Amino acid sequence: NACIEFKNVSFSYQNKKNTIKGLTFNIEAGKKIAIVGPSGAGKSTITKLLYRFYDASSGDILISHKSIKSYSLDSVRKLIAIVPQDTVLFNNSILENVRYGRLSATDKEVNKAIADAQLSDFVNSLPDKLNTQVGERGLKLSGGEKQRVAIARSLLKNTPILIFDEATSSLDSHNEAAIMETLKQVATGHTSLVIAHRLSTIIDADEILYMEKGKIKEQGTHQDLLVKN
Ligand code: ADP
Ligand code: ADP
Repeated sequence: NACIEFKNVSFSYQNKKNTIKGLTFNIEAGKKIAIVGPSGAGKSTITKLLYRFYDASSGDILISHKSIKSYSLDSVRKLIAIVPQDTVLFNNSILENVRYGRLSATDKEVNKAIADAQLSDFVNSLPDKLNTQVGERGLKLSGGEKQRVAIARSLLKNTPILIFDEATSSLDSHNEAAIMETLKQVATGHTSLVIAHRLSTIIDADEILYMEKGKIKEQGTHQDLLVKN
């Protein structure tokens, strides 16, 4: 059971007015919630609060019914894995880049994560890629491939909660759709939060929250939001 509850959460960065204002929402265990909204709405700040980079200024966040403040940073990171927008890859093989998610993982586990992230096809079609260096800043990989490495790396952590924080925002629409499809599959069995700019990129979510200026403006199914917008 890894449900998440935001209870009237507000947060301000230093010297700034409230970035997040009285945010209340739940993600039930095993469900997928999407948060969409324009740049600056406060979406990534939600991720940072969940990962305890910062603590809420007021209100509380509960994970499995316990205040996030009662978890150590270490235990929060055992519960939550984040797939970020821009992934830092090391000048090493894809296998080692994925293994970085959990250094103690066996080759079998790493290969399973690679398969689940649907990276095997890419790896197999270009056989050198698994073992050759990905190069400075991962330049040898396409944007879509890099995000698959990031997904595999996160899956390897075996956390009950997955957050995709603009994980497709730097991709073209073709790659974005392909990665969203992969996210749909890997999210199964996890409690997940998908953060994106545009509603149109969300292919499945139990509920979508539309945020603007630190507040939830609308909330509902994909259909509900399409009808209203
Ligand atoms: P989004 O992910 O929706 O684009 P963010 O959560 O990144 O929004 O940012 C929300 C607001 O907080 C923006 O106005 C942004 O400039 C501001 N902000 C983000 N990070 C910081 C920071 N480290 N210090 C000060 N302001 C920040
Ligand atoms: P995408 O359209 O998916 O972003 P790219 O045009 O970036 O793809 O890359 C297409 C293919 O070329 C990918 O398989 C990528 O790994 C490979 N590639 C891109 N840049 C380099 C490079 N500097 N050296 C070797 N291979 C590269």
